[in-house]
Amino acid sequence: MEKKIAVYICTGCGIGEAIDIEQFEKVASDEAGVPICKKHPSLCNPEGVEIIKNDITSEGANALVIAGCSHRVMYDVFNFESCIIDRVNIREQVVWSQKPGDEDTQMMAEDYLRMSLAKVENMELPEPFKSEEEISKEILVVGGGLTGMTSAVEAAKAGCSVILVEKEDHLGGFQKKVKEIATFPYKGLKGNSLDALIKVVNEEEKIKVYTGARIEKTGGSPGFYQVSIKQNGSTAEHKVGAIILAAGWHPYDPEKLDDKYGFGTSPNVVTNTMFEEIASSGKITRPNNGQEVKNVVFVQCAGQRDPDHLPYCSSVCCTTALKQALEVKAQNSDANVFVVYRELRTPGQSEEIYRKAQEEGVIFIRAQSMEVKAGGNQLAVEADDELLGESVLLEDLDMVVLATGMVPVTSFGIDITEEGKEDDGKEKEKKEIGDMEVPPDIIRRSDILNLEYRQGPELPALSYDFPDSHFICFPYETRRTGIYAAGCVRRPMGIASAEEDAAGAVMKAIQSIELISNGAAVHPRAGDMTFPEFAMQRCTQCKRCTVECPFGAINEDEEANPLPQPTRCRRCGVCMGACPERIISFKNYSVPMVGAMIKAIGVPEEDEEKPRILVLACENDAYPALDMAGINRMKYNAWVRVIPMRCLGSMNLVWIADSLSKGIDGILLLGCQHGDDYQCHFIRGSELSRIRLSKVSETLDRLALESERVRYETVSIIDYPKLPALLDEFAETIDEVGPNPFKGW
Ligand code: SF4
Ligand code: SF4
Repeated sequence: MEKKIAVYICTGCGIGEAIDIEQFEKVASDEAGVPICKKHPSLCNPEGVEIIKNDITSEGANALVIAGCSHRVMYDVFNFESCIIDRVNIREQVVWSQKPGDEDTQMMAEDYLRMSLAKVENMELPEPFKSEEEISKEILVVGGGLTGMTSAVEAAKAGCSVILVEKEDHLGGFQKKVKEIATFPYKGLKGNSLDALIKVVNEEEKIKVYTGARIEKTGGSPGFYQVSIKQNGSTAEHKVGAIILAAGWHPYDPEKLDDKYGFGTSPNVVTNTMFEEIASSGKITRPNNGQEVKNVVFVQCAGQRDPDHLPYCSSVCCTTALKQALEVKAQNSDANVFVVYRELRTPGQSEEIYRKAQEEGVIFIRAQSMEVKAGGNQLAVEADDELLGESVLLEDLDMVVLATGMVPVTSFGIDITEEGKEDDGKEKEKKEIGDMEVPPDIIRRSDILNLEYRQGPELPALSYDFPDSHFICFPYETRRTGIYAAGCVRRPMGIASAEEDAAGAVMKAIQSIELISNGAAVHPRAGDMTFPEFAMQRCTQCKRCTVECPFGAINEDEEANPLPQPTRCRRCGVCMGACPERIISFKNYSVPMVGAMIKAIGVPEEDEEKPRILVLACENDAYPALDMAGINRMKYNAWVRVIPMRCLGSMNLVWIADSLSKGIDGILLLGCQHGDDYQCHFIRGSELSRIRLSKVSETLDRLALESERVRYETVSIIDYPKLPALLDEFAETIDEVGPNPFKGW
């Protein structure tokens, strides 16, 4: 497209008072020869917007540089169809964070305008990804338990066709074994209404149910998933747009528990899930002789919140124990029922069921240590009662019920041994799934989705094998676009939360199908119309892009050529940062574009003693944190020039070289926290950029050059008060290191 650049300057919000606007305008009109350059005291007002619209229609302006507030605000106001748009943030990151009227403030504002002009020169108008193939709007739900069935019903209510696959020969999952339930409003027990839900599922025309079935293969990508479902020896093929994984959980193996819980020493020591099976028969009886129980102890946190077993709390076992205690009391109000607990956790309204249990005479013993004692026909529990301050012995017990926790079915034992080796050190075999040969180091011992993804057949897990992609910000999302997790496979939860989860995951699945139908990205860059384009003639088949893509969006052919799958892509740009040949780019984000922005930064002569610091800031947290500093009128170092990154993982090392050779004195990468509790919106991007940068630092150290010039820091948006000090401290370091010797290299 032939570009006609127009620059619009807002002088409101203190901008006109803090910088010399006439001088600023000259950067566009005199220096860059931009044909249209206008200013307005409040550009976001209808009158200001009208000026821009008129220039688009009557002057043919189509590449708009709008200098004023941050691009994070007023994005709906400054949104003009068929135009390239860049926002120059001279409000939050210049006039609100620098001294008004200062020479350095003026230089900063002018640099940002130059950088923006260089940017639009290198940008193209995004064109949405369009496929010849029709997008499927059907949803596959994996798992026919409470969550899966609720998902199916919710999706059908929203007008979607659903394929529901259950591995057992009947619907219902674990809940099918449960007679009575504790759920909202938690005032007492309710009869299990699962059969009514099964009936709705079976009668709903939009839901096709496969029971006794498994997924043999899931090929393709969101909008075009090709699923092979095996049932009774035959295979059915379905094309679906999105997938909801509601495959559930299994109980923690009680055989693994410590001896103090006594599992296996007596048939009358059972787990909470075994108790459900006993209760569902209609009468709660001693497993060893079938006699009615009169003395029962519930032991909480059996192997839970325990680093040697399940380090987490399964969140529902306390409510379950209260429910089961009430079931014993309902059968025999004279029964002695004890709950031995470390902390009883009944969040929200489930506190009501705790009150109910107290009213019914259930006795609670708070003890940090306890032991189940079994011998002959005798069963007892000894506990150090914290409130009484002494040890208590509960004897003549009919049953001890252990609150073991929930493990997601996706807990497939991710290899923690040496890559490609089994625990016993033997070489592992490669696995073939469809046409894909899956490398041994990423084989998971699971068989749920069988994805044809270069990066493995199942969903990558977050902490403790739960396949979520970002606990805090993106519930339901997994690291495979278009596949959403719901219910206990996502995190331990009870009935009410599972039902809510099912509806949430359905919303996500529908949203994903709709966005993909429009050629747009899903969360977190929802609506982004760009996607990575590969100049394949220069590809060296190095595999870096395929390996580093956090979302498995790039498969590979036999010659190791990358095979991008645009609808799987989240548009993070990690592949662009990884590619040593620099052949991956987006229409509005590319290696040359950022390179041109760096080159546009004015670097004063050495004797002016005004070093320059380039900050490559992740758009998700670091850049907003810089905006927050400005909004709070916190002043920070005037030497910095910030370039926003889609993700710090999109940082290509050539920009470091470009910056040093341009004469930039220091480079600071500001990204999100990584590691187990990562906050990186693209999972591994921030970490990958740190690894890449460490290689630069190593090289600089090896050459006895100054590695202090490049630094990596992690910040979250709430860290904004720390930013001025962090920038000042880095600037001081750069000052001490002295002038940049790489200038002109
Ligand atoms: S690295 Fe990011 S931008 Fe590149 S293909 Fe993967 S998801 Fe898309
Ligand atoms: S990183 Fe670049 S050169 Fe390497 S395989 Fe991917 S596209 Fe090709």
